[in-house]
Amino acid sequence: SPSLAMQNTNITPCQYRTGRMLGSGTYAIVREAIHIHTSQVYACKIINKQLMEGREYLVRNEITVLKRISSGHPNIVTLHDYFESPRNMYLCFDLCTGGELFDRICSKGNYYEADAASLVRTVLTAVKYIHGAGIVHRDLKPENLLFRTQAEDADIMIADFGLSRVMDDEKLSLLTGVCGTPGYMAPEIFLNAGHGKPVDVWAMGVITYFLLAGYTPFDREKPEEETQAIIAGDYAFAPAEYWANVSETARDFVGTCLTVDPAYRPTAAQALEHRWLASAMPHFVADP
Ligand code: ADP
Ligand code: MG
Repeated sequence: SPSLAMQNTNITPCQYRTGRMLGSGTYAIVREAIHIHTSQVYACKIINKQLMEGREYLVRNEITVLKRISSGHPNIVTLHDYFESPRNMYLCFDLCTGGELFDRICSKGNYYEADAASLVRTVLTAVKYIHGAGIVHRDLKPENLLFRTQAEDADIMIADFGLSRVMDDEKLSLLTGVCGTPGYMAPEIFLNAGHGKPVDVWAMGVITYFLLAGYTPFDREKPEEETQAIIAGDYAFAPAEYWANVSETARDFVGTCLTVDPAYRPTAAQALEHRWLASAMPHFVADP
């Protein structure tokens, strides 16, 4: 695709000047990087090879996946460039200056239902595209959903394909292994009987719950209790005061995404048909 400058193998880190830190995650720190010749500012994900300890394949996988889908959808971060030094791997993305959805939820407390529906519809549309391209993201959470600008109605972008997998044939290649962020992980991941695209729809259910209430549904004192709650689908729309202004339709949407058996959970395309999202306007922002 034309926006990927990755055919250029001569690029070295010294073509960029790094600036302030934008964030950090499981394996990476992300800094502003200014391309010296063009003055264009990017977000550069810097992964220390020593910290990866032989798991560099995760980064190569991330690059493979991004090459396949990035720039194919407006709500997926675009990878512009990548290169390596002896110590680090560098991935240069479009800069999202609006921060993580996580921080916006935390500073707001929770979202107005109409705004939540609009965001969820946009993200699910991108998830449907990703699934259609044969990819499972596997780490959808508010820390990996970024706003393109600081505007209140900025585009939301799916980032961090570090745990994603190519999965072309649903039946033949069920994924195994426990990975992700516990609070957003689907029951079938813990049961270790294989998983696939439905894990992303489950995560969308947890994210929607978080948007509406300001806290996550399976949060427990101990990690084992959290796992048990997830496997049992044991959550409630409680305490009541946090759910007083949330419609029955919104709760029904959350409940549908949080269907314990992945065989009965809606696909991303089916979830988009839910009546809570059917009437959601993209980028609608309610007046406070
Ligand atoms: P990890 O795999 O380590 O979790 P991420 O890709 O999630 O790495 O990046 C870590 C954090 O860096 C993100 O949660 C976000 O805060 C920030 N970040 C990542 N990509 C961008 C970007 N394109 N623009 C701005 N900030 C970003
Ligand atoms: Mg991340």
